[in-house]
Amino acid sequence: MERNIFTDEQNMFREAYRKFLIKEVEPCRENWREAGIVPREMFTKMGEQGYLLTWADEKYGGLGIQDFRYQQIMMEEDAVYGEAGFFHTLHSRLVGPYLIRGDDEEQRARFIPKAVSGKCILAVAMTEPDVGSDLAGMKTNAQDKGDHWLLNGSKTYISNGINADLVVVAAKTNPDNPRQIGLFLIERGMQGFERGRNLKKMGLKAQDTAELFFNDVKVPKENVLGDAHKGFHYLMHGLAEERLIGAVGYVACSQRAFDITRDFVQERKAFGQRIADFQNTRFKLADLRTEIDLCQVFIDKCVEMHNEGQLSTEMAAKAKLYASEMEGRVMDECVQLHGGAGYMDEYEICRLYTNARISRIYAGSSEIMREIIARSIFD
Ligand SMILES: Cc1cc2nc3c(=O)[nH]c(=O)nc-3n(C[C@H](O)[C@H](O)[C@H](O)COP(=O)(O)OP(=O)(O)OC[C@H]3O[C@@H](n4cnc5c(N)ncnc54)[C@H](O)[C@@H]3O)c2cc1C
Repeated sequence: MERNIFTDEQNMFREAYRKFLIKEVEPCRENWREAGIVPREMFTKMGEQGYLLTWADEKYGGLGIQDFRYQQIMMEEDAVYGEAGFFHTLHSRLVGPYLIRGDDEEQRARFIPKAVSGKCILAVAMTEPDVGSDLAGMKTNAQDKGDHWLLNGSKTYISNGINADLVVVAAKTNPDNPRQIGLFLIERGMQGFERGRNLKKMGLKAQDTAELFFNDVKVPKENVLGDAHKGFHYLMHGLAEERLIGAVGYVACSQRAFDITRDFVQERKAFGQRIADFQNTRFKLADLRTEIDLCQVFIDKCVEMHNEGQLSTEMAAKAKLYASEMEGRVMDECVQLHGGAGYMDEYEICRLYTNARISRIYAGSSEIMREIIARSIFD
């Protein structure tokens, strides 16, 4: 399906970014997967080219680009030439924006330039061993000690957890009110801040997803993000964009899976004919083509709405729900059409399949998305 939504300048940006990926990322993917982590220098290489926190104001070293299509382009190129476990989008768009939500100029000046350059890698820590979807049940807590906060608790499944220099950590700040949480900026080297294992996963092998521990960490007041009791408010603020980011990536990966499967079935033969010539294959690919195109139109509309400041939580939830569920269906059919090869790690479809399984779980699971959409129907 032809899409005419990008400007000439954006098409040039796509070309430049693609060249960067082909030179700096594509040749290293296998090594990173084996190592279970992307080298820190990759963040600085991205930073040098202006690819991190592109939205940040020029006074912090950013490009000041507010048009979300630039991020969309990067994610679409990542699906083909990038490495799924290299979570620069989490750094740039999921965590970076927290730094402006606290409305503290000193904090922005201290952290944003380093995040833009890639010298300070970002992570966000909400999930705990006993709590994921239901954040109000978190146990990590911070006590106000007058001139500092004392942070205690643990987090798990934290993306960029090993590489991170700055972690936005959610913690309860009022033992009598589970809805009152604060967001604390925890820096590498703070006493009492320890990292646990780099967790072994089904997919996203190059992603350093880790456990984090906080034992009596003294957090200076200047490392509290905004109001220490309004963490939920800051979390909610970015949710629509976070879900849109997910959706954009899932449809891009579905497109990639479709493309490589279309090529594969034209090469592979069985019973004296190409797999592509079986009616079953043609119909399956016709169904997938239709689903992906329909989803793409909806996602592009959501991007347009987001650029206009009109994307609602409920629309973003629909985008995330549909794109992630569709991605699951697409990956499954594409593995099937690859036959045994689809189960082999050396085939790209195998990795796309295992990477995709998390899309329906993190950044708000499909069930939570359905809850949000249902609320908009009945409330
Ligand atoms: C690779 C990876 C990276 C991650 N990165 C991060 C990160 O950077 N930072 C971070 O904080 N967390 C991160 N997470 C955690 C992730 O966000 C959580 O796993 C997710 O929110 C689900 O929480 P949970 O695992 O506790 O599952 P649970 O909340 O225990 O859910 C278990 C099941 O119950 C369902 N369920 C829960 N509540 C309801 C309900 N009300 N109605 C119906 N069904 C329900 C869920 O949908 C799910 O199917 C990551 C996880 C993974 C695997």
